Amino acid sequence: MSLRQISAHVHVETAHLGSNNSIVVGTEGLALVDTPHRPTDAMAWRKTVDGFGTTRFVVNTDHHPDHTIGNFWQGGEVVSHRGTRERLLHEAPSHDYLAGLFARIDPEAVALLDTYRVRVPTVVFSDALDLHLADVHLELSFQPGHTANSLIAYVPEDGVVFTGDIVCEAGLPSFQDSRLWDWFDAIEEVASYDFDVLVPGHGEVADRGVLERYRDWGREVVGQVADAIGRGVDREQASAEIRFPDNIHVDTEDYVGYPDDLIEMFQRRSIERIYEDLRERPDLAAR
Ligand SMILES: [Zn+2]
Repeated sequence: MSLRQISAHVHVETAHLGSNNSIVVGTEGLALVDTPHRPTDAMAWRKTVDGFGTTRFVVNTDHHPDHTIGNFWQGGEVVSHRGTRERLLHEAPSHDYLAGLFARIDPEAVALLDTYRVRVPTVVFSDALDLHLADVHLELSFQPGHTANSLIAYVPEDGVVFTGDIVCEAGLPSFQDSRLWDWFDAIEEVASYDFDVLVPGHGEVADRGVLERYRDWGREVVGQVADAIGRGVDREQASAEIRFPDNIHVDTEDYVGYPDDLIEMFQRRSIERIYEDLRERPDLAAR
């Protein structure tokens, strides 16, 4: 693993399969940002985290399993936008889905499913919420983008911004829960923060330069879909033909990634989402 201190109060693990997992260390306890996808990583993470102090808050940047499954094994109160709680209450992956997924990405975890429960956020907000740990604090702001219930977390004392999957350094995530206008607006919103260090949802810790790169990746796939629409290609055909690199769910040096059929489904749904949003707002092809 590769836990690294990136500022006076913040430590980040970027090598887990799934989201980046962060620890904000204050004199009055810890706040975590996103939790490990694999249960065995989540259990090991709890031990690592406990070495820094007592967890008071666990922030989920969205409801996706790769950011929330590990909640179950952490301490403190889970905090999110209210939409994240709703989606975890009503749309969390089924036991069967998880059993199939863990058999591939974390075989030891299949046996843990008997006791596993979705741990939903108990502290939720609509627009903004600050979490104080004495010498350092987090400012959480609702920001639809990657999902309709995403948030940006900001540590002003350290000039660190956590974007969740609003910005990924590793590559484009799924668009299936995004609306395209929010997707671009959210990147602009991140750009308006005063920060030196950006902790993305997936990939390496970055600086401001990642924003332009990331926007360009998005523009490229959006441009391909716009082009297909312009040629009269229908939604089904476009979603069968257009692909972007998935660097988020695939195998890594240390891990077995998602099965091909799931990766294929994310891609298809992503292109369908972009296609529909471009039909509604063709001007977005020029962003
Ligand atoms: Zn993610």
